[in-house]
Amino acid sequence: MTPLHTGLRPSAEVEADLSERLPRLSRNEAFAEASDCLYCYDAPCMKACPTSIDIPGFIKLIATDDRLGAAQRILQQNVLGASCARVCATEELCEEACVLTPGEGPILIGRLQRFATDLLMEEGLGIDVAGYVPGTPTGRSVAVVGGGPAGLAAAAGLRRAGHDVTIFDRQPNLGGLATYGIIPLREPTEVALWEAEQIRGLGVTTRTGVEVGVHVSQAELLEQFDAVFLSTGAGRRVWEIDLAGADASGVEDALEFIERIRVMQPANVPVGRNVVIVGAGNTAMDAATIAARLGADTVTCVYRRTQTEMTGYPNEYEHCLKDGVRFRWNIQPVRVLTDAEGAVLGLECAVVALGEPGLDGRRMPIVTEELFTIPADHVLLATGQRREPSLFEGFGLIMERDGRPVVTDRFATSDARVYVGGDAVLTGKELSVVDAVAQGRDAAIAIDRFLGRN
Ligand SMILES: Cc1cc2nc3c(=O)[nH]c(=O)nc-3n(C[C@H](O)[C@H](O)[C@H](O)COP(=O)(O)OP(=O)(O)OC[C@H]3O[C@@H](n4cnc5c(N)ncnc54)[C@H](O)[C@@H]3O)c2cc1C
Ligand code: SF4
Repeated sequence: MTPLHTGLRPSAEVEADLSERLPRLSRNEAFAEASDCLYCYDAPCMKACPTSIDIPGFIKLIATDDRLGAAQRILQQNVLGASCARVCATEELCEEACVLTPGEGPILIGRLQRFATDLLMEEGLGIDVAGYVPGTPTGRSVAVVGGGPAGLAAAAGLRRAGHDVTIFDRQPNLGGLATYGIIPLREPTEVALWEAEQIRGLGVTTRTGVEVGVHVSQAELLEQFDAVFLSTGAGRRVWEIDLAGADASGVEDALEFIERIRVMQPANVPVGRNVVIVGAGNTAMDAATIAARLGADTVTCVYRRTQTEMTGYPNEYEHCLKDGVRFRWNIQPVRVLTDAEGAVLGLECAVVALGEPGLDGRRMPIVTEELFTIPADHVLLATGQRREPSLFEGFGLIMERDGRPVVTDRFATSDARVYVGGDAVLTGKELSVVDAVAQGRDAAIAIDRFLGRN
């Protein structure tokens, strides 16, 4: 392995810099913010929320000093309301839809949601206060494969309906990417784990460290359970790009780098002095933020298109700029340069020209022969997650060409007993916690109906 570095900055400073970015609103701040809401009839903010939280309703409860009532109202629609308060792209969803003019600024819906839902953690209350209690036992059982936001939301709904639920997850902890992927600046690990624990507390059996398709077969699940919900996410591996020398020491998946921040003491996470990240999506921006805050001298994101086409959120881009991250557009990495021991020395890149728009509407990159080198001792690949069709194929499901199972709008697959939801089937901007929660919640209703009929 290339000599990466630990302890570039004092541990206490790194931890402070990686802790939750925004403070919780005080009672007075929350009251003042909530009082500005117009409590719109047919509220557009509510329509923009994938889980249809009664936003004017919970804000009004905050304005009447009923913080618990507000938390209950949120959780009724979205059992992972504390996570969503932190990680939702509110500026593209509810706050974008708010009727208040740009001059007035939208109501800070996410911050108010956090003010409300944090009460439960502060006061040691559970989600039972919002009506999450196990239903009358039905004697039917469901295997949920993947304990991320989609699987947890499904498990909560299925337990309320009285079904036995077992969650299988290959990771040691539940929470999926909320526990292992999203950076702690947006959501502390404790919040994701608290939510998972609440749902486990509904009487869900958990089998963590168990990979379906490896430790337990698909056939065994179909034999032992009445229905199966697959919420396995978009896949852990990054898209391989045509990059010569990508197996060099010092080149790794950005997701693995990010995950280390969650499972190690942050200051002990090895990082290069000159880090180059390939990509300009949210994973790239998160990796860049972490590398910069661990103390790398230079952090550069290279992207073959331009800022207009990048998929990262604009506010995360702004945060990266403040951290000193450089973005270089219209660049295609072609080769990793290494020293005699095979450790990274730099990234050879080609200048890219943009051609006609492709099928996705984005202009097609055309790689030119103009080459140059960016010095680097650590290269992180953030070129998108790759789907893993083998799990679905093991259930014998009819598949799309892109590695997703064919699914109806009610989450059903070609096998009547197998349902799927969350990142496993979503694409584009819907690859988000709130959409995964909405899918898990609604899939539980569909599975409950199926079990009632069969
Ligand atoms: C770096 C990064 C940052 C992100 N930041 C944000 C953000 O700020 N806001 C936002 O809304 N979204 C964000 N997202 C997206 C968000 O995390 C996902 O959309 C969301 O977690 C999807 O939930 P899910 O339950 O469908 O899948 P996941 O969260 O991926 O959970 C899937 C689970 O399935 C398990 N699993 C997979 N295969 C198997 C198997 N065969 N057997 C057993 N278990 C299995 C995995 O271990 C995992 O726990 C981010 C994603 C990444 C990668
Ligand atoms: S659109 Fe804005 S003002 Fe209207 S209810 Fe929603 S948050 Fe309040």
